Amino acid sequence: MKITYLFILTGLLFILSQCSVAHKSSSVDNIGETTGEGDSFFYEIPEDVIEVRPAAYQPSYTIINDLVHTQLKVSFDWKKMHLFGKAYITLKPHFYETDSLRLDAKGFDIHQVELVKTGGNLTLKYSYDSSSLYISLDKKYRREEQYTIYISYTAKPNELQVKGSAAINDARGLYFINADGKDPEKPRQLWTQGETESSSAWFPTIDKPNMKMTTELSMTVEDGFVTLSNGMMISSKSNGDGTHTDTWKMELPYAPYLVMMAAGPFTVVKDHFKELEVNYYLDKKYAPYAKKIFGNTPEMIDFFSKRLGVPYAWPKYSQVVVHDFVTGAMENVSATVFFDKMQQTSREMIDGNHEDIISHELFHQWFGDLITCESWSNLPLNESFATYGEYLWNEYKYGRDEADFGNNNDLNHYLYYSRSVNAPLIRYEYDDKEEVFDAISYQKGGRILHMLRKYVGDEAFFLSLKTYLESNRFGTAEVHQLRLAFEKVTGEDLNWFFDQWFLSPGHPILDIQYNYDSISKLVVVTLNQIQDAEDMVFRLPINVDIYENGTKTRREIVMNKRQQTFSFSCDTKPDLVNTDADKSLVCEKSDNKSDTSFAFQIEHAPLFMDRLEALQFFSDKSDNSFYSRVMLRGLNDTMWAIRTIAAQNIVLDNDLNGELKKKIISMASSDPKSHVRAAAIEQLGQWNDHNVEEVIENSLRDSSYLVISTALSALLELDSIKAFEAAQFLENDSSDEIISALGNIYSNLAGPDKNDFLLSQLNKDDVSYDLVSSYGIYLSRMIGNREVVQEALSTLYDIAQNDDRWYVRFAAINTLMNSFNAMAAQKETWKNQLMQTTKETEESQNLATNLEWITTEMSALDLKIESIKTSETDENLRRILKSQ
Ligand SMILES: [Zn+2]
Repeated sequence: MKITYLFILTGLLFILSQCSVAHKSSSVDNIGETTGEGDSFFYEIPEDVIEVRPAAYQPSYTIINDLVHTQLKVSFDWKKMHLFGKAYITLKPHFYETDSLRLDAKGFDIHQVELVKTGGNLTLKYSYDSSSLYISLDKKYRREEQYTIYISYTAKPNELQVKGSAAINDARGLYFINADGKDPEKPRQLWTQGETESSSAWFPTIDKPNMKMTTELSMTVEDGFVTLSNGMMISSKSNGDGTHTDTWKMELPYAPYLVMMAAGPFTVVKDHFKELEVNYYLDKKYAPYAKKIFGNTPEMIDFFSKRLGVPYAWPKYSQVVVHDFVTGAMENVSATVFFDKMQQTSREMIDGNHEDIISHELFHQWFGDLITCESWSNLPLNESFATYGEYLWNEYKYGRDEADFGNNNDLNHYLYYSRSVNAPLIRYEYDDKEEVFDAISYQKGGRILHMLRKYVGDEAFFLSLKTYLESNRFGTAEVHQLRLAFEKVTGEDLNWFFDQWFLSPGHPILDIQYNYDSISKLVVVTLNQIQDAEDMVFRLPINVDIYENGTKTRREIVMNKRQQTFSFSCDTKPDLVNTDADKSLVCEKSDNKSDTSFAFQIEHAPLFMDRLEALQFFSDKSDNSFYSRVMLRGLNDTMWAIRTIAAQNIVLDNDLNGELKKKIISMASSDPKSHVRAAAIEQLGQWNDHNVEEVIENSLRDSSYLVISTALSALLELDSIKAFEAAQFLENDSSDEIISALGNIYSNLAGPDKNDFLLSQLNKDDVSYDLVSSYGIYLSRMIGNREVVQEALSTLYDIAQNDDRWYVRFAAINTLMNSFNAMAAQKETWKNQLMQTTKETEESQNLATNLEWITTEMSALDLKIESIKTSETDENLRRILKSQ
């Protein structure tokens, strides 16, 4: 699963949770009602199948029965958002003989439970508590004996409430989108999301990651709908009643949480890698861009297969974009589901795409799908690898700088997160399985794998992965299996590495000091691990590059004490001593190099991080004699992110020959990367210099939305009238970037005639937090205009109550509250004006009518705000509202 991390919201919060879409929960009655026909009753549950309320330690699920095969026949009631299912589940005892079976089945109506027998099925006794189905088998089965259970049931995902899970609203398993077809902006669709244990919200199974089974799924849907599931479609039959039934079969075993289905009016764009079908399912509108969005997939499959030495295992690879998905994407076996932000036009893709998600999910087809983590405690065996898959693809396709850029973001993400959560990668202790989907399992884990690769070397690293994949394929693994594979290949006992990085929390905090003793001709590097005294001391193999007289020598050291000093002989004082030359350590550090060393580093050390560290060192030292040279070097870097950071941070105090200024101006129009042009334009906007106005204005015709919106904001600083005029020519652009920029300009400058335009933007799906906030400023200025206010309020009420995202609802509630305050101020003004009029005139009559109107409007608004606040269900938002 790829979690989408959200944005820094202006002045609000940095959200670090899986919250791309927070669905409102639907309330439910009647859950747990057993409507079994025939002998529905409760029997005493044998002790070995009672799920013990977990203590902090979370063991792997004890396997009593193994799933072998699941055959499902499903159809849907779109009005009630129910699924009718017939399940044929083949199982066998794992080792010990047993006469009972427990299945996960969440919030179903169970109609029939039978043992499939030639010559007539046998009705079985069962009990059902709305989450587990306990079945008494007809006899004791031995481990070589398979048996098949038939269950007919109704799943009611929208009426499901899952107890005790933070992801309560996102655990429905099956989602109907725009079921009643009332939303003109969305197609009608259904799709599923199994991870972690939500497949059992739409079919009975043993919903644990240490289960593997084959599947066959028949879906009956209306004509015109396209279906997708795991494996290959083996038949598609018309039923002659406006529906058809598609059957999908997956003959290789995989875990229940990776079972998927999707149906809707998708357009399918076909592609392939050699004989393998590689298809893209998306909205018709975006079909022309499908190859631009997903088109690198075949090359990616080829690259991963070769890099790992293990070919792609599944019979096809499809990728489907759905609406309102609960996370970024999900790596269901052979059929990955993506959120709708994947759908971009070519022009939108100039400013960035989501290819990292594509590589992440594809790498899961090996790590997660071919080998599955045995328990959620071992989730990094899925997620750290998928995150590292992003690195591998970027490194291969776009070069090491691009990959290291991502790696650095991951490290920062983890370090930020580690301020509030300190847990080992492999987490045997947790309260809720959803907790482990975090920056430790993903971002830190990816970095740990990178460090392991740098430690053992590329050849050993990839051979170890091949060994691990081949010895556990179609099975499950815990972290020790990974260690054993690395030990087998390298011959080294790696418990120290795995204990330290996989099984223990935290990271070292390093202080690095340098000295050169010209008498003894020694370079002295003093390393201190300054993390808290009670935290562990890390064993750190470190590369040190010494640059002296035009040559570079690499020294390898191992730090294993809290404080250590290393000396290297060196005839002359070196130009640079570069500690952690690979930049692979997972740590925080203060690297106390001199300005001369950092200035040398940006010119001569090879890595993205080398140049970034040097830029960061000089960014607040504009009075330093190296400053201009270093910044100019940054602006001329081959890597766009370095140029962007340089352009963003530059100050011109020390721009000796005006070279920096000249460079920034030329970058604003000529840099090939839109982020760099935007950063340069942002700089120009801060100079308060009308000589650069023309450059900014020309950028309003750029191909990139990011550049245009930045130019608009920059122009606003210099000449607001011009910015306002320019904005009006951009009203037909539907890009979020542009609309946000227009919102910003109109908030302070537009009159009542722009209300219709702003409302039309607010009424769109996926309205942004920024736009709602900007509109709040506009509305406060317009608060005396009856027509504007009346039209505005109903739209804001709708967003405040119904938007899927809590922070957007928050923006709308805030806007309403600010409007109330603005009304109160307006009321005072009118009151005073009325008091100053001595005799009855048309004006005084108007004032009296206005006062009456605003008083009524205010009390209605007050009531409405209270009712919106009371009916809010999201915990985050409730907390914020309470504290206000
Ligand atoms: Zn993932």
